[in-house]
Amino acid sequence: MSNDDAQDMKEKILREYPRLGVNDKFKFACHSKLACFTHCCADVNIALTPYDVLRLRKRIGMGSEDFIEKYTVLPPMAPGQKLPMVYLRMSEADKRCQFVGEKGCSVYEDRPWACRMYPIGHASGRTEANPQGEDFYFILRDRRCDGLDEERELTIREWMESQATGDYDAANDEYKELSLHPFLTRGYALEPQHRQMFFMACYNLDRFREFIFESTFLQKFIIEPETIEAIRHDDEALLRFAYRWLRFALFHERTITINPDYENAKKKVLRAQ
Ligand code: SF4
Ligand code: SF4
Repeated sequence: MSNDDAQDMKEKILREYPRLGVNDKFKFACHSKLACFTHCCADVNIALTPYDVLRLRKRIGMGSEDFIEKYTVLPPMAPGQKLPMVYLRMSEADKRCQFVGEKGCSVYEDRPWACRMYPIGHASGRTEANPQGEDFYFILRDRRCDGLDEERELTIREWMESQATGDYDAANDEYKELSLHPFLTRGYALEPQHRQMFFMACYNLDRFREFIFESTFLQKFIIEPETIEAIRHDDEALLRFAYRWLRFALFHERTITINPDYENAKKKVLRAQ
């Protein structure tokens, strides 16, 4: 799916799909006896959040740059698109997900949020025209899914609990505050270098760590010692710090403190030149 298609799909969902809440019920059961078993893991567009990439990458023990190269696709930005969208890359040979096998998902405990939720989708109602729009759930009926013909009835909340979405929901809520920041929903656009910064900090955590520890970053900004220790080795702490950094760097929020000593020293050098 190109980003243009993704934008069209989003508009269609906002316009046409019945909106569900967590207590709404639907009928569904997924199991290996269904004829469609694993069919939903092929030729499909699965958007990856930064936390999805972090979990998958750690699961298979790969550096962030190599993971992005082998397992993700980053389509060109569509007109009006605010931020880069990252998708799970399907196999070139058979268009199947590179993690699917005979018995199902080989990274099941660390599968992306969208895979956990399927056939339930989630959308934000926040748009330029309606910045206060509420989030909602909907049923994806875009492909054959025999599980939707099964008799088991459950609420969306029960489905999410059964799929252990908790850690993902918490991480994605932080991401949503950034990706649906009022600066963006009010219609402003980021400069290309800021979009690159966003992508690097969110998805290429190894590179972001280098940026912090192998540049003048820690001289320019006052960062708490316990945060520095945490982000040195812990990717989840680093991702949370990335969101904090991006709020400062992109939206000028006071989430990071500039070191006045560094600024003064820099001014002195400039005056002396
Ligand atoms: S990550 Fe797992 S659940 Fe998701 S598409 Fe791939 S094989 Fe299927
Ligand atoms: S298509 Fe639906 S029922 Fe079939 S394996 Fe995928 S989620 Fe389960």
